Amino acid sequence: MITYGHFIGGKRVDGKSGRFADVCQPMDGSMRGKVALASQAELTEAVINAKVAQPAWGATNPQRRARVLMRFLELAAKANGELADILAREHGKTVADAKGDIQRGIEVIEYCIGAPQMMKGEYTEGAGPGIDIYSMRQPLGVVAGITPFNFPAMIPLWKAGPAIAAGNAFILKPSERDPGVPLRLAELFIEAGLPPGIFNVVNGDKEAVDAIIDDPDIKAIGFVGSTPIAEYIYGRGCSNGKRVQCFGGAKNHMVIMPDADMDQAVDALIGAGYGSAGERCMAISVAVPVGQKTADELVKRLVPRVESLRIGPSTDAAADFGPVVTAAAAAKIREYVDIGVKEGAKLVVDGRSFTMQGYEKGFYVGGCLFDQVTPDMRIYKEEIFGPVLSVVRAKDYEEGLRLCNDHEYANGVAVFTRDGGAARDFASRVNVGMVGVNVPIPVPLAYYTFGGWKRSSFGDLNQHGPDAFRFYTKTKTVTSRWPSGIKDGASFVIPTMG
Ligand code: NAD
Repeated sequence: MITYGHFIGGKRVDGKSGRFADVCQPMDGSMRGKVALASQAELTEAVINAKVAQPAWGATNPQRRARVLMRFLELAAKANGELADILAREHGKTVADAKGDIQRGIEVIEYCIGAPQMMKGEYTEGAGPGIDIYSMRQPLGVVAGITPFNFPAMIPLWKAGPAIAAGNAFILKPSERDPGVPLRLAELFIEAGLPPGIFNVVNGDKEAVDAIIDDPDIKAIGFVGSTPIAEYIYGRGCSNGKRVQCFGGAKNHMVIMPDADMDQAVDALIGAGYGSAGERCMAISVAVPVGQKTADELVKRLVPRVESLRIGPSTDAAADFGPVVTAAAAAKIREYVDIGVKEGAKLVVDGRSFTMQGYEKGFYVGGCLFDQVTPDMRIYKEEIFGPVLSVVRAKDYEEGLRLCNDHEYANGVAVFTRDGGAARDFASRVNVGMVGVNVPIPVPLAYYTFGGWKRSSFGDLNQHGPDAFRFYTKTKTVTSRWPSGIKDGASFVIPTMG
């Protein structure tokens, strides 16, 4: 049994609150350990440490800060196998998928090595008589990230990388479901030369989150998780005067046009719908075939593929996907499938009774496929976050597009077609933050920004890419004139350069 504490002031510390949550191993349902749930006082202790450490780190030139990240990359590469093993055991995803989770985080750290470039301001010489104007980017001070269970390496690194590269001290409140990887990342940062107090991990639940939102020394919060919590943190954080960005849930559609390459579309749906047991905010959970013929063909081809999905424990290198994160998550997914059946959707593949031989206590749900789903059904409107794909048949392109645009979530979307004009029209008119053209999971690379629209995202700036540096810095603009013999006397009108 592992006891997970916190990482404060450059070292692991035990929890003092006396409150703990269970950490399971989803592949066999065993108890892996318990994680300490921080009190408000413990969060305050982390903030005090961070506040003391930040000024020197903020004053360290950005190239030196970037060098620490370079060393971190070397250490993370060496620790890759160990990190992937912890991640797969605590989350349930396969080891291969865990490596992808780590890699997408690493890519943001690579991008953050460009901190000297990203921190550059602007300069205008001669904006007025003897007057120059320049702007600079400065760190905010102490900032925080609150992250979900489903990417325990990637999302903490998306938040921490830009925050610390920009010269802030960072407090991470990771998911209490899989705390092992964030704690290990904290150790690697220290080994890479990051000063103690710059990257802290405070494990916890609502109490720690509320302490973050209400702490006056925390200047910004980057959150990723479900929409109700995103909305709550955004509202309360903003009313406390903080800079807040919150990324929420999703219901990602894939529109399949009659001219799509059907082999490619089916492969894409199988991978994007069922990979990681559907526990991705960019998973495809709704397939929208356009026209009856396309729909019939699609469902006919999907059924045998869903029935033959290879489900296995996280350590099985040949598995397509593993268990879901908790027994409660598995029960909730099955309940959604029951609801879909009651609502009148046609359950063409039923994975509810799947059990994994030799791992009967693991949290497995077999792949499920619904046909004839309609927009009024709960299984269409709500995020299921499991290996359940719904087919909603659209009579034509406009109806397919309208479905995507009318849904309350708008994280990712994809269109599969051979028609460049249709793809271009779709990309232009769809009201969704990230669009794939014959690409089912259009997660932008580190040097672009990531973010949904509508109720998938609250706040103005996206994650990673240039927006991340904007989010974790404030701009100061200096208008300067040196004594040079220019005398224009006292002026009582608003200064203009005209
Ligand atoms: P969650 O909302 O339950 O938890 C996210 C974080 O909020 C965790 O750190 C958790 O401890 C904390 N939290 C939970 N309940 C809280 C409460 N009542 N008050 C304050 N804090 C609370 O989400 P999850 O189940 O860990 O992750 C899955 C969700 O995250 C899905 O909805 C998924 O779509 C979403 N997600 C979104 C993105 C994105 O970029 N849009 C990326 C990954 C995951």
